[in-house]
Amino acid sequence: MKYISLLGATGSIGTQTLDVIRNHPDKFRLVAMSVGQNIALTRKIIDEFNPEFVVVKNRDDYESLKSEFGSDIRFSYGEEGLVEAAVYGKSDVLVNAVMGSVGLFPTLQAISAKKTIALANKETLVTAGHLVMNAARENGVSVLPVDSEHSAIFQCLQGEENNPIERLIITASGGSFRDKSREELTNVTINEALNHPNWSMGAKITIDSATMMNKGLEVIEAHWLFKLPYEKIDVLLHRESIIHSMVEFQDTSVKAQLGSPDMRVPIQYALSYPERLPLQNGSRLNLAEIGKLHFEEMDFNRFYCLKLAYEAGKVGGTLPTVLNAANEAAVSAFLNRRISFLKIDELIENALERHTVIKHPDLDTINKIDQETRVFINSLF
Ligand code: NDP
Ligand code: MG
Repeated sequence: MKYISLLGATGSIGTQTLDVIRNHPDKFRLVAMSVGQNIALTRKIIDEFNPEFVVVKNRDDYESLKSEFGSDIRFSYGEEGLVEAAVYGKSDVLVNAVMGSVGLFPTLQAISAKKTIALANKETLVTAGHLVMNAARENGVSVLPVDSEHSAIFQCLQGEENNPIERLIITASGGSFRDKSREELTNVTINEALNHPNWSMGAKITIDSATMMNKGLEVIEAHWLFKLPYEKIDVLLHRESIIHSMVEFQDTSVKAQLGSPDMRVPIQYALSYPERLPLQNGSRLNLAEIGKLHFEEMDFNRFYCLKLAYEAGKVGGTLPTVLNAANEAAVSAFLNRRISFLKIDELIENALERHTVIKHPDLDTINKIDQETRVFINSLF
């Protein structure tokens, strides 16, 4: 039995993680969880999964849940609560499915507490990949990918421990605007941006997919997870999202991982690794029915955020922190109808250009730069 602590239980990844736990009650048990502000769903999750410890974002929600559920369950709130849930004594695995760099500190603390990390929260690796991976190495802790592309690469690498990787090929569906030119993006609406062709996900990552920043964040995530230079990480447009990513080896052999798009597959693999388990109501891949798979080269001018992410990743130091924080602030402004879609990459580029890079930043420096960048972005509109 693996005891699980789940951060972001009410989100897209969170609820799919709960589905995996629900379908394997003999393998997994939810002991601690955190949510943001969706208290109606939180009540349902508590009733069904009966966790020991629950963290909410705000104090008011904490007070009302505490009086509602009595002393059977322990509650906490805020960022301190998030850390308490991440290091919860009984848990073996932390599933980090919160959105944004708020997931960084809880992840570092869970690594120190020797928890296995199942990481969906890619912003954590983008903003401070060196701190996370160094801490994991020092503590002998595994960081297992939940992101579908990285899970695909991880699956392709099983049994290849001693074989150097020649190249990673990360596939990209192209997001909601893949068939639009840059000019056609001028007046796109939030609802159009939120309408992803292949995946149903949280709002922020759906916008990141439309700008292609999601793929940029994933390139940086892959750099840290698989210890590869950026020159060996390619992105390929593949609109069907059937090949989840590929690995090329020295002998030119390429391994790919395929499957119907379903995030429960990578989530479950991270939880059951190295074992595989049946997937409840999983849709089997039928290639004859699909008939054709399509691939296109990435256009870095059309998908300008991808170019910015490669550049920030290659420079390193605090620049990926700026990239991530600027993106979080700009996407939030777009979702709040304060800026237009094309303003997102413009604001991010502004933040990157004015920043003086600090090499090998510590946690305090990263937090400071993250906050300063958000303030700067919000001063631009
Ligand atoms: P959602 O927006 O659906 O869920 C985010 C979760 O985090 C919710 O439980 C939300 O709470 C909670 N949350 C948000 N902000 C805070 C905060 N400040 N403090 C505490 N909790 C907070 O996001 P997704 O599930 O789509 O994504 C989560 C992470 O996984 C992201 O890093 C994303 O990039 C990554 N990911 C997602 C994929 C997907 O298919 N969705 C695929 C690959 C990676 P509440 O709703 O209760 O307010
Ligand atoms: Mg992904």
